[in-house]
Amino acid sequence: MKILISDRIDDEGVEVLRENADIDIETSLSHEELVEVIGRYDGIIVRSGTTVDEEVLMAGDRLKVVGRAGVGVDNIDVEKATELGIIVINAPEASTISVSEHTMGLLLSAARNIPQANMSMKDGKWEKSRFLGEEVYGKTLGTFGLGRIGAEVAKRAQAFGMNVIAFDPYISQEKAGELGVEITDKNNLLERADFVTFHVPLTDETHHMISTEEFETMKPNSIILNVARGGIIDEKALEKAIKNNKIRGAALDVFEAEPATKSPLLKLDSVITTPHLGASTEEAQENVAISIASHVLEALEG
Ligand code: NAD
Repeated sequence: MKILISDRIDDEGVEVLRENADIDIETSLSHEELVEVIGRYDGIIVRSGTTVDEEVLMAGDRLKVVGRAGVGVDNIDVEKATELGIIVINAPEASTISVSEHTMGLLLSAARNIPQANMSMKDGKWEKSRFLGEEVYGKTLGTFGLGRIGAEVAKRAQAFGMNVIAFDPYISQEKAGELGVEITDKNNLLERADFVTFHVPLTDETHHMISTEEFETMKPNSIILNVARGGIIDEKALEKAIKNNKIRGAALDVFEAEPATKSPLLKLDSVITTPHLGASTEEAQENVAISIASHVLEALEG
């Protein structure tokens, strides 16, 4: 069995693969180079850096499995893969805790202006009155998506005394009830939430699900968080909404175009950002790598 690892994964996962298969690690292939070499492999393991589109899949003459070391499979043409009989596997549970902890980190950072205060102190200033924050206790968190991550975020927010409401048309009232979360519709969530967070996949349905009209509905003092995928929030509309005081600010881990070093949102004081760090913990990376390695091997061994 020959497996190509085209984005960096944790050594623990590489070891699992090495013990059972012939592996190549090529993490800087261009799309053209990938198309050229993919025909030699039975399996490929990617993170979010490699795009496995129709061209790659069609060139993969002996390709049986695409493993995504992570959750979102939006960089893989799953429909084409299915049509060609190629299995697409991800490691959905491995980073749930890390992403939900990162969401809480951003939530508290936004509420208390921690990143801005840190930058100001490092600039030699002591601006105590500039960074008046707000408590999250007693506030309403609205989550779009109450799946794995949404549910863990809900539990953590409740531990901080927040009231959690959710919009998720695909989960049962029973599950929401067990979590103590009220299910509501999109508009009602936007009208009521002090903090709005996204834990949905990027799909045609969720692309730009928050744009100008939705920002008009939100509370002027509200903060929006995205630790799911860039493209769910319309960034141009977000920039305008913040500049026009339709909402107070945003905490973003993901962007429509990454790396987002030139995003105009970075110029806004009330936007705090991290460079797609949701799953970047030692634990998540190890879990993801081991999980995807074992699942890809299982699939190849039939
Ligand atoms: P999940 O599948 O367990 O949960 C997603 C939830 O979204 C489901 O309950 C689903 O019913 C709901 N949903 C789908 N479409 C919806 C819609 N149109 N409106 C409202 N709800 C909708 O997935 P998860 O493990 O919780 O992960 C959520 C997302 O987090 C992933 O898709 C991924 O994009 C993102 N993620 C980001 C990072 C990061 O590094 N920032 C890491 C891991 C995952």
